[in-house]
Amino acid sequence: MKHGQEQHLVETDQDLAKNLHSFVEDTQAKLETLSKWICDAKTILWFTGAGISTESGTPDFRGPDGIWTREDKKLPPHEMMTPLEEIEPNPAHYAIVQFEKIGKCDFLVSQNCDNLHLKSGFPLEKLAELHGNINRLRCRTCNDRTFPIENFPNKMWGLNERMKRELTDACPICGGPLEDSVIDFGDSMPVHVLDTAFEWAERADLTIVVGSSCQVYPAANIPRANKKRGDRLVIMNIGETGLDDICDLRFSHEKVGKLLPKLLQMVLARLNNPPTEASSC
Ligand SMILES: [Zn+2]
Repeated sequence: MKHGQEQHLVETDQDLAKNLHSFVEDTQAKLETLSKWICDAKTILWFTGAGISTESGTPDFRGPDGIWTREDKKLPPHEMMTPLEEIEPNPAHYAIVQFEKIGKCDFLVSQNCDNLHLKSGFPLEKLAELHGNINRLRCRTCNDRTFPIENFPNKMWGLNERMKRELTDACPICGGPLEDSVIDFGDSMPVHVLDTAFEWAERADLTIVVGSSCQVYPAANIPRANKKRGDRLVIMNIGETGLDDICDLRFSHEKVGKLLPKLLQMVLARLNNPPTEASSC
């Protein structure tokens, strides 16, 4: 019996080594497939969640070690070392900026309010921030238009003051009241922002989800809206997602800060040297 157990352990180690090898090869093959899909797609929607920012040091929520997962397990929360305003974008954010520059990101929908997409240089007009932005104020009356917080001298605005919701600044366009754009639990999402996100989901024939567990609605309906039409859905997220059963390609273990720059290089290589029919995968 003991011998049998040892034998089993040895086999398990060998399996692990084999699995690790095939895992690396598997990731490479999946990236190749995705790079081809990106080159073939007419309209590409990117969709990001908290997982893209965890590599910058912002806390994750529903990941294996996320705030809410830890809460469920009765574990204490991680201490956040760096204030949110001082956190910098990581290679995944910068890669998406480059995808936009080469025409491979037609629109970006984000569940994050950490400002890292704009900080990385992503254009505001191609971005829908479903949950708002810690650095921007929203006008209630002109289509959820937002403005940089630093343009307003009112010192009441700021991370620790946001719950006050005092409407003392006026929109420079319409004169309407401005408020903190970040959505709290129980707040409804900004209608115009949500509509724009769904419009792009309808238009996209490839949707790439980065760092979202796709479990928060209605946001999670955005990648699903596209999928209903039978187009391609790719999910990069550590941990399970609500859309695992319907996605066409799944990266579930790799850090997106490593994946996206690699993917960008593959796409650039394809664009510069398109593979011939015979060698194309
Ligand atoms: Zn306004």
